[in-house]
Amino acid sequence: MKKKYLIVGAGFAGAVLAERLARKGNSMITIIDEREHLGGNSYTETDEETGVTVHKYGPHIFNTNNKAVWDYVCSFCEMMYYRNRVKIVYKGNVYSMPINLHTINQFFGKALNPKEARLFIDGLADKTITNPANFEEQALSFIGEDLYRAFFYGYTKKQWGCEPTELAASILKRLPVRFNYDDNYYGSIYQGIPRDGFTAIFEKMLDHPAIEVRLNERFDAGYDTKEYDHIFYTGAIDAFFNYKYGRLGYRTVYFERGVDEGDYQGNPVINYADEAIPYTRVHEHKHFTPWENFDKTVYFKEYSKETTPDDIPYYPKRLAEDMGKLEKYQQKVAKLSNYTFLGRLATYQYMNMDHVIEEALKLSERF
Ligand SMILES: Cc1cc2nc3c(=O)[nH]c(=O)nc-3n(C[C@H](O)[C@H](O)[C@H](O)COP(=O)(O)OP(=O)(O)OC[C@H]3O[C@@H](n4cnc5c(N)ncnc54)[C@H](O)[C@@H]3O)c2cc1C
Repeated sequence: MKKKYLIVGAGFAGAVLAERLARKGNSMITIIDEREHLGGNSYTETDEETGVTVHKYGPHIFNTNNKAVWDYVCSFCEMMYYRNRVKIVYKGNVYSMPINLHTINQFFGKALNPKEARLFIDGLADKTITNPANFEEQALSFIGEDLYRAFFYGYTKKQWGCEPTELAASILKRLPVRFNYDDNYYGSIYQGIPRDGFTAIFEKMLDHPAIEVRLNERFDAGYDTKEYDHIFYTGAIDAFFNYKYGRLGYRTVYFERGVDEGDYQGNPVINYADEAIPYTRVHEHKHFTPWENFDKTVYFKEYSKETTPDDIPYYPKRLAEDMGKLEKYQQKVAKLSNYTFLGRLATYQYMNMDHVIEEALKLSERF
């Protein structure tokens, strides 16, 4: 007899798992999502006014070092060459991001070569900080006051809604500077954007007779699970337990949409470092598909804020109080015999698409 599985959430975690389990041929799968569309936060749609493919929940660029994950995703789409080159505006000047040799030379008005730049930055680093206690100290110990104030202080404060001294030093693990002119935002070996958008990948993945997709369907404590042998849950772990130990902290983002003729900013993503500018970045989505042409353009100013019960949880804050609650929730999960929690919300961690896919591929082998 075939097993019956329920998968909650049709983002990459749920969809990959459904696809893999279905191909094995020994189960029937129902996948539900409370949203009206597939794809979770990776969902893309065509903007009616401009025709541009828009990443509704923020720009998504596929990137990975894992060849198996890359090959797997590419079996559902034509992945187009794309490299993310981000700029940052600070005090009316535009700089290259992540901080690289170009940024250093621009910012300090120099023409240093890699070795000279390394020595120069080393000379700026705050050597009095031997054991950084927080994000700010970590940054100062790496790059010194000027670069930190310009490119980290205001941006980080806007993004996290607190002083960088309140954030963990571990957020900035390595020296955030490149001593060459490489401005490719992601360091991954494989990078790209699917020609037909991300949603088309999900449609292909879930197009299988053993998979039933039900959108606009929410899972909660009252959901009837009797007929299922196992439930895979990719929703928020605190929501599953009806916030018994309190809500886990998240930052969320919201967007202000604008439409223009031609080209609005000449680049897919421009960050804004000044604290006085309320948004963190502007994304102009037609630049994510440089192989297409559009007369009009649509762009989004991105703002960051605390998450209220009505907002979509985006970035887990993982402060000490959150981690305490998480541990309690995880202890409860461990006692559930026929449930598996996976994906970014169910594990309360920031995960890129490739990590979520890798996790789901591995998990599917156990069922
Ligand atoms: C702004 C932003 C930009 C990003 N950019 C990149 C990028 O460039 N590259 C990259 O690799 N990754 C990026 N990511 C990360 C990427 O979005 C995640 O890796 C991916 O979405 C995780 O997939 P998931 O299935 O775990 O979660 P999600 O995509 O969030 O899917 C979970 C789904 O579960 C549904 N759900 C939740 N609870 C319930 C419930 N109770 N009942 C029914 N349905 C429910 C939700 O509606 C949702 O559709 C970005 C994330 C953000 C926030």
